[in-house]
Amino acid sequence: MNYKTDLHCIECGASYPMNEIIYRCSKCDGLLEVRHDLDALKAKSASEWKEIFESRFRTYRHPYSSGVWGKKEWVLPGIKDEHIVSLGEGVTPLVPMPKLAKDTGVGQVLLKQCGISHTGSFKDLGMTVLVSHVVSLISEGKGIRAVACASTGDTSAALAAYASAASVPTIVFLPSGKISHAQLMQPLSSGALVLSLDTDFDGCMKVVREITSDNSIYLANSMNPLRIEGQKSISIEIVQQMGWEVPDWVIIPGGNLGNVSALGAGFHMLKETGIIDRMPRICLAQTENANPMYLSFRSDYKDYQPVQAKKTQASAIQIGDPVSYPRAVRTLQKFNGIVEQASEDDLANAAGRADREGMFADPHTGVALSALIKLAERGEMNKSDRVVVISTAHGLKFSEFKTGYNSGKLDGVSSMYKNEPVELTPDVKRIKDVIEERFH
Ligand SMILES: *Cc1c(COP(=O)(O)O)cnc(C)c1O
Ligand SMILES: [Zn+2]
Repeated sequence: MNYKTDLHCIECGASYPMNEIIYRCSKCDGLLEVRHDLDALKAKSASEWKEIFESRFRTYRHPYSSGVWGKKEWVLPGIKDEHIVSLGEGVTPLVPMPKLAKDTGVGQVLLKQCGISHTGSFKDLGMTVLVSHVVSLISEGKGIRAVACASTGDTSAALAAYASAASVPTIVFLPSGKISHAQLMQPLSSGALVLSLDTDFDGCMKVVREITSDNSIYLANSMNPLRIEGQKSISIEIVQQMGWEVPDWVIIPGGNLGNVSALGAGFHMLKETGIIDRMPRICLAQTENANPMYLSFRSDYKDYQPVQAKKTQASAIQIGDPVSYPRAVRTLQKFNGIVEQASEDDLANAAGRADREGMFADPHTGVALSALIKLAERGEMNKSDRVVVISTAHGLKFSEFKTGYNSGKLDGVSSMYKNEPVELTPDVKRIKDVIEERFH
């Protein structure tokens, strides 16, 4: 069975074939989405789909070994298996945090560890789909010379890795000095052309849109709806890992706002196909230093202004003018959504607190965890609620953040859970004293 898809304008409803190289509607400039033939998908029952997805979970068979391609019919049904570029993305752990649940008074907290992935962030989920699609376009003879993206560090790492796996040249535009060392090393190691620009992410985004207006360089930002299709698999995976039950809340950090839209799209398909019978509520979490969606939410989405994003430890969401704003508003309205914000102190201490429960939270996960703590304190959640917090990256990508936190040297942060190495000579008596002091 081949399920049909097309590119569909979310504003005016215009439709374009999948193999057209187009990122916004040519009639009204609206954002595009991949539209699936839901009636055809519904010809299979909910239990048939569950069985198919279960049989592929953690299998060794290409392409189903990937968490994304295990849901292939819902993601990009038309692609040939030989065009699929997978680096083993998805199928990430959903880890309970019983201590945080107890301390905040909610029923259950589950951390979806999307950062436990090839390039250390959830961006791998979208990039496997986009790069596979590019390989398929190239095989049709479309003259694509390279792929390109603007990035706050994680998109470029993922694009460079997947594209190099497929031998597709890559150009990345990065805001100079605004990403971590690890994030800068990743695309360099993959052999990408790394253009470090003296501007911020929003400035890089403007440049890449110009550069890719010539169709020989393919745009890989999340304005491109192919990315959303892969990222959408997180909702399906979460529900599957909960034994096909629906969480009451999902909390997700947002910058360019593609991921929150993807989360909503996944739940939408689960509901349409009858796998779930209700929707979770969604909380989008932003930092106070880059909060255009939070401000818009406060005005009930009537008033939207891009902001000048200020420096934040959550550098991957330091975005003032999110491309997917219209998509995200729809999602939040549909999911009875809430937008929260976190200060630098909030996000750093929320990450530190999680680390004391076995996690190793990056600053963006800190933003989401801080939103959980706030919503619980405000009484938005109750004692039986099951809350999934999306961890978007691996803490190891943000070692400068971790070092700064543990030495109490982050601007605007007073580290509640700091921990520093004790420098000693190998003097056993002195060492015993130090152990006694710590664990008396
Ligand atoms: C990209 C990214 C986000 C935000 O996702 P958007 O789709 O831009 O909203 C959050 N956290 C991390 C670690 C990211 O890399
Ligand atoms: Zn349109």
